[in-house]
Amino acid sequence: MKLSFNQATTLENSDLANDLELCEQHGYDYIEIRTMDKLPEYLEQQSLEQLSSYFQEHHIKPLALNALVYFNNRSEEDYQQLLKEFKQMLEYAKELQVPYIVVVPLVTKEKILKEDIKSSSVAVLQELAELAEPYGVKLAVEFVGHPECTINTFEQAYDIVEHVNDPNVGLVLDCFHFHAMNSSMDTLKQADISKIFILHMDDTEDFPIGSLVDEDRVWPGHGAIDLDGILSVLTEKGYDGAATVELFRPEYYEMPAEEVIKKAKETTMQVISKYAKI
Ligand code: ZN
Repeated sequence: MKLSFNQATTLENSDLANDLELCEQHGYDYIEIRTMDKLPEYLEQQSLEQLSSYFQEHHIKPLALNALVYFNNRSEEDYQQLLKEFKQMLEYAKELQVPYIVVVPLVTKEKILKEDIKSSSVAVLQELAELAEPYGVKLAVEFVGHPECTINTFEQAYDIVEHVNDPNVGLVLDCFHFHAMNSSMDTLKQADISKIFILHMDDTEDFPIGSLVDEDRVWPGHGAIDLDGILSVLTEKGYDGAATVELFRPEYYEMPAEEVIKKAKETTMQVISKYAKI
């Protein structure tokens, strides 16, 4: 399994150029680039061509652009804005040769019927996939394990992706989000593994289901998630994508970025090496 780094892990103590140097130095294979802050910040000082050359000249490669947020159940005006943003991401993906764009469902306090969530999500994903196809870019839907997210369990996300029925549309399986709304291990066991594009590795403090937030994440293997359960299913089913460590913990932002990047690799490998060569 290839090892990947999500920039949320060093959100407040690093930048893209620094993350790249440190991840390269510490043997990561991939990075997930944050397009909402870290990439625009980088582009204030350096060019897209420089970033592209960096990837050509180093081992580390871009895995995904993170993220197109709130893709479903939007107003027409918001949807047009979203499409504009998505098209810009496609241009970045082409220049940098990024295989995946992560797309995140709407988070809202408003109650929306599941059938309306599904019909909007399927239609939007089909349209986005059509736009992405000429670029060779795949869409990875990341459900969020929180009650206010319109797609908040693995089974709900899997059902939507299955209905889209496009080999270029799949899922991010984030262990934190899987645990946080008590997603179904049985559905995971029955899933078509080719629909899981990216695995996000993390762990969490043991708060009750429905109350967990990203800041509760801890080093993989140091928390309450049944990582062994998830990984053994993925291994059995022949998952061959990357494992991206993704933490959002404020106290890790107080540490030097290099320490975080080293420790994130160490703890992730401790969990994963039981299942796959990394
Ligand atoms: Zn994630």
